Amino acid sequence: MSISIQRMSACIARVLLSISLFAVSAFALAQSTSQPAAVSADAPPRLLLVAAENFYGDVLAQLGGEHVTVTSLITQPNQDPHLFEASPSTARQLANARLVVYNGADYDPWLPKLLAASKAPQREQIVVASLVGKKAGDNPHLWYLPETMPALGAAVTAFLIRADKTHQDDYNARLTAFLASLKPIETKIAALREKYRGTPVTATEPILGYLMEALELKVSNARFQQAIMNDTEPSAADIAAFETDLRQRRVNVLIYNAQTSDEMTRHMLKLARAAQIAVVNVSETKPADISYQAWILSQLNALEQALAGPPK
Ligand SMILES: [Zn+2]
Repeated sequence: MSISIQRMSACIARVLLSISLFAVSAFALAQSTSQPAAVSADAPPRLLLVAAENFYGDVLAQLGGEHVTVTSLITQPNQDPHLFEASPSTARQLANARLVVYNGADYDPWLPKLLAASKAPQREQIVVASLVGKKAGDNPHLWYLPETMPALGAAVTAFLIRADKTHQDDYNARLTAFLASLKPIETKIAALREKYRGTPVTATEPILGYLMEALELKVSNARFQQAIMNDTEPSAADIAAFETDLRQRRVNVLIYNAQTSDEMTRHMLKLARAAQIAVVNVSETKPADISYQAWILSQLNALEQALAGPPK
């Protein structure tokens, strides 16, 4: 009996949500977040957290553990994230969230718009860009900036303790473990910088920009990369400069972002292969079956192999 009433009210909540996606009432919210019947009465409800991008979602899950339920919105490594469009289910998830984490710096401009359109007094937000002093116009690929994840870890843990003080010790322990798990990435960056600083490389899109800075590599064709990111046409001069870099082997590595590829980037990929320049394939969005840390390390390992050149 109680189950069917719960189902009915959940159904009503769905109807309400679909009628007024952007003006969800507190009543409908309470209904749609009700726990499944199997949860015992004394189990505390999990905190609902939403991340715009799945690498931040993975970090939220690591920091919150069994006390949180995490939804990531951008999860497909085969879709251009710069052109992502929110669906009605996105608005519903944002309406129910206690914490929303998004990149900012114009990477996900649809998200602050949705938040402004759907007020939820109990919802907090963390804009990753403002944690590391970046803004619109800066390179938005902040999850490759070494300072980002420690700053995000601290901010998320502060929220979790605010929202769920009972589990403060657990959250603090999880933050300590999280920060320790970033060390192999820092160690790898330091080792590669020591060995390869100043090496000329190029890229089809500025995805690894911050990592390139941390490694002190010499990156060419910045304007071309910017145009690809913004889905605009690179100038003829910028195209010619890129082609020359590849044909004359002025760069040792091409970093290829398959997730923001088009005819022009595939043309450059072909030239690089023809000139036997090492290619490192990277994506913007984390593959589903791998942690943030393992994902970044695997990309650093691929970069290391490319920088080392063909086996002698
Ligand atoms: Zn990008």
